[in-house]
Amino acid sequence: MVVLSRLLHVAAATVLSQDCFLCGAPAGRRPICDDCRAELPWHAESVCPVCALPTADGGVCGACLRRPPGFDATWVAFDYAFPVDVMVKALKYQHRFALAGLFADVLVVPDGVDLIVPMPLHPRRLAERGFNQAVEIARPLARRAGVELMLEAVSRVRHTPSQAQLGRDERERNLRGAFVGARRLDGARVLVVDDVMTTGASLAAVAAVLKANGAARVENLVVARTPTPL
Ligand SMILES: [Zn+2]
Ligand SMILES: [Zn+2]
Repeated sequence: MVVLSRLLHVAAATVLSQDCFLCGAPAGRRPICDDCRAELPWHAESVCPVCALPTADGGVCGACLRRPPGFDATWVAFDYAFPVDVMVKALKYQHRFALAGLFADVLVVPDGVDLIVPMPLHPRRLAERGFNQAVEIARPLARRAGVELMLEAVSRVRHTPSQAQLGRDERERNLRGAFVGARRLDGARVLVVDDVMTTGASLAAVAAVLKANGAARVENLVVARTPTPL
């Protein structure tokens, strides 16, 4: 009994207080300490409202003006740079789930959203990893905002290798048919949650599927974005 209560005590202390993931200093109940949090590479404030790439005046960027992507708006918390890249990989590959909570804490669900849809993983990838990091980030967001989390709205039926080296047309061709929708979403305003936005091609493909199924508006809420233009 004494051993059990000792174990419970240790377990409780471990849950209640943790070392900062980045610097090792005591961080209380948060995964990283306040000093490290302040140093994170927060995304620019003056950005294209459609794709979240930095623009001088906060106006729509040239690429989105020339060829509007399938989605209507994007919000990004961080640049995909050190140490956020390390944190994203630690969540994905080392199962540091506390980091999903931290990411969810810095993202804000816009008012008026009807549904939250996490970026789907291919079932094979899901089986390898055991979880979808976008779901882990979206779940606390949906709970906090009181918005339905819909996992089955869109699924990934084809695995697509990294697309960063491809041109925009090639990326779009590569992704054609990679996602399918399973639900009518007539008139819904949908928020797609993802961990990293690189070219935006996957988000555009998901948005196209959601709109084909009736969504009126598709917005993206993303932890981190690379500076690659769409
Ligand atoms: Zn720290
Ligand atoms: Zn743009």
